[in-house]
Amino acid sequence: MSDTIAAIATGSTVSAIGIVRVSGENAIEYASRLFLPNSGRSLADCEERKLVYGKLTDGRGDVLDLCLCVISRAPYSYTGENTAEFQCHGSPVVLRAALDALFALGARQALPGEFTKRAFLNGKMELTAAEAVADIIDAETAESVKNAAGQLSGAIDAKLTGFYSDLADISSHYHAVLDYPDEDIEPFVLEDYLGRMKRIAAGLSDLLSTFERGKLMRAGIPAVIAGKPNVGKSSLMNALLGYDRAIVTRIPGTTRDTIEEKLVIGGLCLRLTDTAGIRETEDIVESMGVERSRKALEGASLVIAVIDGSAEPDAEDREIIRTAEKAGKGIVIVSKQDISERDWEIDTPLPVVRVSSVTGQGLDELERTIGELFPLPDVPAGEILTNARHADAAGRALDYMNAAMDAAAAGRTPDIVLTETEGAMQAIGELSGRTVREDVTDRIFERFCVGK
Ligand code: GDP
Repeated sequence: MSDTIAAIATGSTVSAIGIVRVSGENAIEYASRLFLPNSGRSLADCEERKLVYGKLTDGRGDVLDLCLCVISRAPYSYTGENTAEFQCHGSPVVLRAALDALFALGARQALPGEFTKRAFLNGKMELTAAEAVADIIDAETAESVKNAAGQLSGAIDAKLTGFYSDLADISSHYHAVLDYPDEDIEPFVLEDYLGRMKRIAAGLSDLLSTFERGKLMRAGIPAVIAGKPNVGKSSLMNALLGYDRAIVTRIPGTTRDTIEEKLVIGGLCLRLTDTAGIRETEDIVESMGVERSRKALEGASLVIAVIDGSAEPDAEDREIIRTAEKAGKGIVIVSKQDISERDWEIDTPLPVVRVSSVTGQGLDELERTIGELFPLPDVPAGEILTNARHADAAGRALDYMNAAMDAAAAGRTPDIVLTETEGAMQAIGELSGRTVREDVTDRIFERFCVGK
């Protein structure tokens, strides 16, 4: 078994409860030397996976806290190793002292993600599930939690295992015929397997097609509020955010830089940039802001074009609406409805929402409209690819499958077709962690924070 690692598993601020985790060969022994159960028994003799109440000491006789401890013996623990967890009061000082006491006994500081990495290496979870642990902790919306929880429960892995074992069936049949010609094995007929290969390719392609939406789910949707100066962009952003972050002023061109905020709206996480008003200007600082706005527009998945509802739309407004029409997705906001005298006709195929940042009119409709622009793929929870590593491997697997089917269609010999399907197996194996290289695994877990 590996060396004994310890870390504070909870946040660094004061909280009701804080947890110190220890895992490895001597975890239970070290914990027993620090933790004295109120029952008078040794912690090591207490029942596993049951909370025990007692005194946590610094190992030199001083009591640090009255708290709970739970032990689990290998292999029945998160990491698959002997583990102990102190559930203390959430004082950073208590937690630090407990950790130091564990270090004094011989434990070492756990590296980022090291507990979950050990869980993966000890076969307690698949790689996609281990990665989902990080996703669930970092999730910013209910939809990403749901998808990560699905992956933690093995949704992606279940799909991949099906593809992998189907491909393994094909390969093993071919090699069995080749290697054991004297055995009475059914002859290998490639055509018998073409239907199955097609289904695997279609499955991979469906999985891959969820990535575009999954990427936005994971990183947030880059969105830009664009419009002429003074049309109410900053006010809209503030109304959406519910607090004053952008500078709201009557002087045109004061929002000289771009301001980015994350906000959850309609169940989606938007990375919303308020741009400097786009217009021709002599002012150098303002023109830099305008340039940045253009850049933000180029990278945006959603452009929210704002036009002033209290004035008749002009050529510049129409230009901004055209920009939104050219973006991936767009919405037109007609602002200042509380002082607008008429409903200006807006000629655009984009959804048009009339709002007032002062009264809040139209903000609900705006939320709904944004939600409708980014529907979730119609697949069970956990089957949306959110991770670039997964998408890359699924893409390679699909390329191999397409090459295999092309080779079959061109009448190539089975060995050539099977070289391609074996490439697909390799890529699927990487995705699920079966054949992943050690340096890749290391990099995956480095993304985690300490204590996971
Ligand atoms: P930006 O330059 O496009 O960011 O515009 P601002 O948000 O700074 O707003 C310009 C002016 O319009 C400010 O005086 C705001 O108070 C005013 N304003 C913005 N939105 C509304 C609104 O919905 N109703 C009213 N009555 N005034 C608004």
